Amino acid sequence: KQEVDIISGALELSTKSAKEVMTPIEDTFMLPLDGRLDFETISNIVRSGYSRIPIYDGSRSNIVSLLFTKDLAILDPDDRTEIKTIVNFYNHECLFVQEDTMLNNMFVVFKEGKMGHLGIVYSTEYIMNNQRYYDATGIVTLEDVLEEVIKSEIVDE
Ligand code: ADP
Repeated sequence: KQEVDIISGALELSTKSAKEVMTPIEDTFMLPLDGRLDFETISNIVRSGYSRIPIYDGSRSNIVSLLFTKDLAILDPDDRTEIKTIVNFYNHECLFVQEDTMLNNMFVVFKEGKMGHLGIVYSTEYIMNNQRYYDATGIVTLEDVLEEVIKSEIVDE
């Protein structure tokens, strides 16, 4: 019975989109690219409890990079290091996924492990001066996808 529930949950992944399970951008803990990693900012990051923090440039829908909490390990808060410096140093690649991407496809990408386990969900992408931009509407992690499998298991009980 349990196996059947999990399998049906897994099969439902192809009927659900990233948009349906994402954490909306307004609820996402992020930091501005032009900010500094001073004592207050570092405490806020630690208090948030998140391991990955999207970094936006100008508008909150313009996510340009990711900061990992572990990137902070070597920092001295007194240096008030620019976020730009640390983000350029680690240069973690961002995975951008369109809102209509189905969760089974997200799962395949996450499983490959090349892009990490967090995706930036966007409604539209556009190109300006040969540079690609995205209108970010939320974030999706491997946990959000797996939760969908577990959820159907619980409901079916
Ligand atoms: P973490 O490893 O940071 O705990 P998970 O991948 O386990 O993150 O995701 C747990 C939940 O938190 C998911 O619903 C995910 O969408 C959400 N989440 C992850 N990072 C952030 C963030 N920076 N701000 C808000 N929510 C986040």
